[in-house]
This record gives sequence, structure tokens and C-alpha cells, in this order.
Amino acid sequence: MSNSNVKLEAVKGDITKQENISAIVNAANAELQIGSGVAGAIHTAAGKGLAEECRALAPIKTGEAVITGAYELPNQHIIHVLGPIYGFNKPEVKLLSNCYENALTLAENHNIESIAFPAISTGAFGYPFEDATEIVLSTVQDFIKKAHSIKKIRFVLFSNKDYEYYENKLRGIK
Ligand code: ADP
Repeated sequence: MSNSNVKLEAVKGDITKQENISAIVNAANAELQIGSGVAGAIHTAAGKGLAEECRALAPIKTGEAVITGAYELPNQHIIHVLGPIYGFNKPEVKLLSNCYENALTLAENHNIESIAFPAISTGAFGYPFEDATEIVLSTVQDFIKKAHSIKKIRFVLFSNKDYEYYENKLRGIK
């Protein structure tokens, strides 16, 4: 991508199975506990230690990001963000953008080189996928202009359709 040395990539897969990535991002709930979707998969794969560490950090606000260890996951850190519930937490564009911006800032503060995001808020929280993707990519493109430690940002999509959508969008900005 122009103007930056940061590699942006999309993969189809499970956020809990990202090898060679320093930090994965959790689409958390405010209490930072096991839930459905991404949060359920991460807590199940990471093991009980994660919920314990999370208890001291909760609750978090919409758009906020906190960092923990990754326990049984093949990563070094988990960055937990709380996405906006579509139609409820407003302004939703700003709040969704804050999730990515705050996660990336926290990663930079911890000298993290690679980070993988799921599609925050697009599951149980109901954010329309295509609208969310626009916000994600514009936030990330702005951020990488000032990135120092981060060299790779991976988007992990659960369905073929979502993966294809990101892949096409990334091709457009490379
Ligand atoms: P939210 O509550 O923020 O909407 P969800 O976990 O319900 O979060 O879903 C966010 C997105 O992550 C959805 O697009 C969903 O399809 C996808 N997803 C669900 N499980 C996983 C997983 N294990 N790995 C990657 N993406 C996942």
C-alpha cells in the first residue's frame, strides 16, 4: 500500500487460530467475559486464566480497548474492544472507528508488530457488514500513516462472502 510499510491482508478463518500474529483482537462484551461469537471462541480457546485477568479490567466502555495475555492461544496478547450495538450506541460510525483506532494505539504502545482483527460489531451487534468495512478501512488507512511498530494488520473473516468482500476492497487500495 502506498505511503506506508504496513501490510494489510484478509484471510478467511477463525480468530483463535492465527499463527505468527502477536496480538488478536476480541469483539468483547462490556464485562470482558465469555459470550457468543468471537468472545466465546477466544475465551474457550484461551482457557480460564483469561477470564480471571479480565475481571480486574472490566467493565469497559463502547469503543474502548484493553490488553491482556493470550494464555493458550498461539499469540502474545489479546486486545479486547467493545463495539457499538447497531441502532443503539451512537454515534455508531465514531464508536466503531474508535474500536480500531484504540486497539491499534494500544498495540503501538506495546511495540506490537502484527495484529489480527475480526469484523467487530457485525455479528450479534448487528452492524451492516459493508458499512462497517468502509469505516474499518478508512480508520486503518489513516492510522498506518503514523504507525511505527505495527508492520502487519490482518483481517480475519468467518465466511467466504465476508472474506471476498475484504479481499476486493484491499485490492482496490493497494
Ligand atoms: P459483535 O458482538 O461485536 O457483533 P460477534 O462475535 O457476534 O461480535 O461477531 C463479529 C464478527 O465475527 C461476525 O462477522 C462473525 O461472523 C465473526 N465471527 C464469529 N466467530 C468468529 C471466529 N471464531 N473467528 C473470526 N470471526 C468470527
